[in-house]
Amino acid sequence: MNRRIGLATWLVTGGAGFIGGNFVLEAVARGVRVVNLDALTYAGNLDTLASLQGNPDHVFVHGDIGDRELVARLLAEHRPDAVLNFAAESHVDRSIDGPAAFVQTNVVGTLALLEAVRDYWKGLEDEAKAAFRFLHVSTDEVYGTLGATGKFTETTPYAPNSPYSASKAASDHLVRAFHHTYGLPTLTTNCSNNYGPYHFPEKLIPLVIQRALAGESLPVYGDGKQVRDWLYVADHCEAIRTVLAKGRVGETYNVGGNAERENIEVVRTICRLLDQRRPRPDGQPHEVLITHVTDRPGHDRRYAIDASKLKNELGWEPKYSFEQGIAATVDWYLAHQDWVRRVLDGSYRLERIGTAA
Ligand code: NAD
Repeated sequence: MNRRIGLATWLVTGGAGFIGGNFVLEAVARGVRVVNLDALTYAGNLDTLASLQGNPDHVFVHGDIGDRELVARLLAEHRPDAVLNFAAESHVDRSIDGPAAFVQTNVVGTLALLEAVRDYWKGLEDEAKAAFRFLHVSTDEVYGTLGATGKFTETTPYAPNSPYSASKAASDHLVRAFHHTYGLPTLTTNCSNNYGPYHFPEKLIPLVIQRALAGESLPVYGDGKQVRDWLYVADHCEAIRTVLAKGRVGETYNVGGNAERENIEVVRTICRLLDQRRPRPDGQPHEVLITHVTDRPGHDRRYAIDASKLKNELGWEPKYSFEQGIAATVDWYLAHQDWVRRVLDGSYRLERIGTAA
């Protein structure tokens, strides 16, 4: 058993989603054998994994992390060296309209996954048991909101404010409890907002790109001065590999991009990039499309991550500046409009959601 790339088998959950999909593509390219368990909700897209078709190092399984028997069967059959849990309901706006699905997958589903993994891990031989890891991918939103100054550290008390972040907080607590109660070798990462290729176009950055290209209004919630610490998805994937390889068992690690930006600034940056790459037919800047709309209920004002533990203990730092990452992202969407069309083939049509409160 080995967690070293080139020798490893990893069970990845949610690997047809945005971050999980990027992670799986990179892991297989690095020689890892990946068993990818995904329920293919609206957010999961096999198109993202099209380049892996026929690759024996990628086994896709359509199923639910809450299906304990299925997970137990996959563990017994594939004998993974690590389980990485990306699967989740992940959109705050959707959690406002329908919180139950978030509790079902993020809390009940994670519990079922933990129980199956614990039982598998208990039955491993000593060496494999010592090397095994369960890595849980979580969010900085569990810490609540910040004022104008300060950053979240790993010791910031949990204070989740949305049904999404509350369900992620609950899953983090279960992971912690499985380490303390059963000795399961867990690792948890709490990451800031990601952006990059294969991001479902309901989230701010791809939504703005798509609506701007279509000449539609660009909805900015409230005054647009909410601050997020943006991280390019490839940097997040590398952080996860670093924590998996070198992280101390039972620990949590904050992951951030050192790239705090107000939402309105993010939208304006995308507009400027599109002005250069795809000028509007009327010659006006894309910024004319910006429209302020009623704020998201309970909208957290500012998130900022102190990722110094990850840097000092494990040597990880983001490689992409926000300017590099956002330009790469806009270019990717311009070059992959076929992907966007295919993932938008379902029920979502770039409309506003999350107003139920
Ligand atoms: P996503 O919504 O794009 O993808 C989630 C994936 O999980 C989808 O492929 C979906 O089909 C799958 N899934 C949902 N329910 C499932 C279930 N019950 N069983 C199996 N698969 C299921 O999400 P994402 O943005 O890629 O986020 C991945 C993880 O990272 C999540 O746990 C999220 O909380 C966390 N995270 C996301 C961000 C971000 O900015 N996107 C930041 C920090 C942490």
